[in-house]
Amino acid sequence: MTSSATATTSLGVLQEVFGYDAFRGEQAEIIEQVVGGGDAVVLMPTGGGKSLCYQIPALLRDGTGVVVSPLIALMADQVAALEAVGIRAAYLNSTLEPYEAQEVERQLLAGDIDLLYMAPERLILSRTVELLKRAPIALFAIDEAHCVSQWGHDFRPDYMGLSVLADAFPDVPRIALTATATRATHQEITERLRMENARHFVSNFDRPNIQYRIESKDRAKDQLLRLIQSEHPGEAGIVYCMSRKSVESTAAWLSARGVDAMPYHAGLDAAVRQDTQVRFLREEGIVVVATIAFGMGIDKPDVRFVAHLDLPKSIEGYYQETGRAGRDGMPATAWMAYGLGDVVNQRRMIDQGGGSDLHKRNARSHLDAMLALCETTDCRRVQLLRYFGQDSEPCGNCDTCLNPPKVWDATVPAQKLLSTLIRLQRERGEQFGSGKVFDILLGRSNERTEASRHQELSVWGIGQDLSEREWRSVLRQLLARRVVEAVGDFGVLVPGPEAGPVLRGEGTLELAVDRAPTARANGRAR
Ligand code: ADP
Ligand code: ZN
Repeated sequence: MTSSATATTSLGVLQEVFGYDAFRGEQAEIIEQVVGGGDAVVLMPTGGGKSLCYQIPALLRDGTGVVVSPLIALMADQVAALEAVGIRAAYLNSTLEPYEAQEVERQLLAGDIDLLYMAPERLILSRTVELLKRAPIALFAIDEAHCVSQWGHDFRPDYMGLSVLADAFPDVPRIALTATATRATHQEITERLRMENARHFVSNFDRPNIQYRIESKDRAKDQLLRLIQSEHPGEAGIVYCMSRKSVESTAAWLSARGVDAMPYHAGLDAAVRQDTQVRFLREEGIVVVATIAFGMGIDKPDVRFVAHLDLPKSIEGYYQETGRAGRDGMPATAWMAYGLGDVVNQRRMIDQGGGSDLHKRNARSHLDAMLALCETTDCRRVQLLRYFGQDSEPCGNCDTCLNPPKVWDATVPAQKLLSTLIRLQRERGEQFGSGKVFDILLGRSNERTEASRHQELSVWGIGQDLSEREWRSVLRQLLARRVVEAVGDFGVLVPGPEAGPVLRGEGTLELAVDRAPTARANGRAR
């Protein structure tokens, strides 16, 4: 037994060192597996309590528990939190001065450290591996293990190198942990980290107290304000926006309307960010408007809502961000407004962005899965959990369950839109973004259409039976289903890979009627 604690059982350590009464979920089994020297692969949602699964075994086994984490910025805080409960913790990363690192190495060799945090790029250096071979090692914990997955949303090449641990330390147990649970990622973790003899612990990823709602964007800030005022007045929440600029403007807009809102993004001064975090944690009812830079490592149990004003890039991201709501198990809302512009912009960002073709293909498939969740007419939770490989029944606590969307036969409008695109291309050699296409469908004369003599097209005005808002909804859903695609720098519309069956009239194409933007799911969550 190391550290100041005297407890010799895992429950004893939980109670005496950490001050908790009982284990949660599968913690006890996971800890037993690792204390016994076995390997473990742990898939557990954010907030599930992964840290104790390696911290307690590190205290119960002789030697140092080495924790691999990509989040260098969090290491100092993590170490401070452990030291506060009497655990001898340290970290080795690029922020340390050489003499500081040497001191940590000396303590490590002397067996004076219970938990040592380190980034993967450091661990895989042969110098580090040799150092660790000379020290007593209790275990290796590989946190954020999904970073090893090339198909995932957060690939970090250095994680691949962690496979060396299997050969270099055959007798040291390893535990890999992640909050990402797709089958593919799970398999990649097992293979790439050489965890073939591990026991696997897959938690239920459902967060039943979170009510999932996704509505179509129509003056998103107003929609958000309505949500806050009618359902979460004076309560803590996080609002995610894509850009720093929209973070700032949204925070200012909300503040001007009486919401206690503060901006947070990586471009702000470290001291300002720190102050925002502290206020968010300590005070009641602060709404942080943030880019995705906010949230990692922030553990606030009573966040009552998480709102997205822009579309997340993947379901993994969406799940992680919404997962910050309601960690205390009390009702919470995950709300998102999403519109045609989101789809077009995100596709364009992927197309224009750097990276290999493989990377782009992955990014597109992540986005497609996210869009399918947005456009589903089935239970959101069923769809979300299915993505993570878990079957479930309709939940009764999401917008589509509480307020099933009406569907309509949109085959003919879809055909009209496609034929417009095809005629423009064939007869004129022209391709346009949504604005001009709507002008043509709606027969709206203006300078643009007159200059290009679009009135002469046979498809001019064939879509007047729908309003522009309805057309936007149709187009958004067609983009999500890849019946239409937006390509190139200007997001010009072209028939997509799924256009054929629609043009040929094979089956009916059912689309959802957009909810009125004022509608809210029936009352609060259960
Ligand atoms: P994760 O890494 O899975 O996101 P953490 O390990 O940070 O989750 O744990 C989330 C929160 O739950 C922390 O505040 C932690 O102290 C708390 N926690 C974990 N296990 C227990 C337990 N058995 N009893 C009470 N609180 C716990
Ligand atoms: Zn549901």
